[in-house]
Amino acid sequence: MLILLSLVALIACAIAYYLWSRRQARARLLATTLTASERQLVETMVPIVRRLPPDLRSKLDGKMTLFQDQVRFFGCDGLEVTEEMRLSISAQACLLVLNTDMWFDNLTTILIYPNAFKSRQQMRSGYVVTEKEIIRTGESWNRGPVILSWAHSRQGALNDHDGHNVVFHEFAHQIDDLSGGTDGVPVLSRGQSYADWERVFVAAYDAHVHAVETGRPTVIDPYGAEGHEEFFAVSVEVFFERPNALKDSVPDVYEQLSLLFQLDPVSWT
Ligand SMILES: [Zn+2]
Repeated sequence: MLILLSLVALIACAIAYYLWSRRQARARLLATTLTASERQLVETMVPIVRRLPPDLRSKLDGKMTLFQDQVRFFGCDGLEVTEEMRLSISAQACLLVLNTDMWFDNLTTILIYPNAFKSRQQMRSGYVVTEKEIIRTGESWNRGPVILSWAHSRQGALNDHDGHNVVFHEFAHQIDDLSGGTDGVPVLSRGQSYADWERVFVAAYDAHVHAVETGRPTVIDPYGAEGHEEFFAVSVEVFFERPNALKDSVPDVYEQLSLLFQLDPVSWT
């Protein structure tokens, strides 16, 4: 009996030590700052970063360090992954989790193609399932990986005022997926109401679908009419890149995203 109790105590100590050392390693990575040359590269490749208030700017360094410690980047179709690619994609992804405890828990792999890539999509009609090949600039799989076109990821970051950003889009799907399903309802921030989220997003989605079907221009990309999960992802793109336009056209959506990310991009100068 004594041996058994000692063994249980030993295992409990080993688990406690493992969890403690993981927490320590995470805290160490989050406290790390980028080098001056890395910072300069990030500001050149991802100009939205220059608008961040100083406290958020230093948080970004730590989140990017943690992200790059967790995730492996692989080049496809002969692409060689460069520091520029790693830093640009990490900075864009980490903007979404900059000011909350939200984290890409399930992500370990990012695949990068030089340009748009072919992807197979299953189409279901009753009992008949057919496959077709489509061209994509980004893809997010449940529980990872994220697949990106470097040409579009790079350009999406360089033009930070057009409301289109494939990295924000795919990582918004990753955040959405943390709730157990990619359905446009992510795990909300502390104090945020699921009833409010649903009320705001269902009404905004319905109005968006109606606007798209009747040919009216929308601030949020018409692709959002494809489903609630796509509406969430394209709203995130606009939240960061055209926050004033989003706040003017659908203030409730802006407010919910602001609560979710604990960020207020309208105030960034
Ligand atoms: Zn999507």
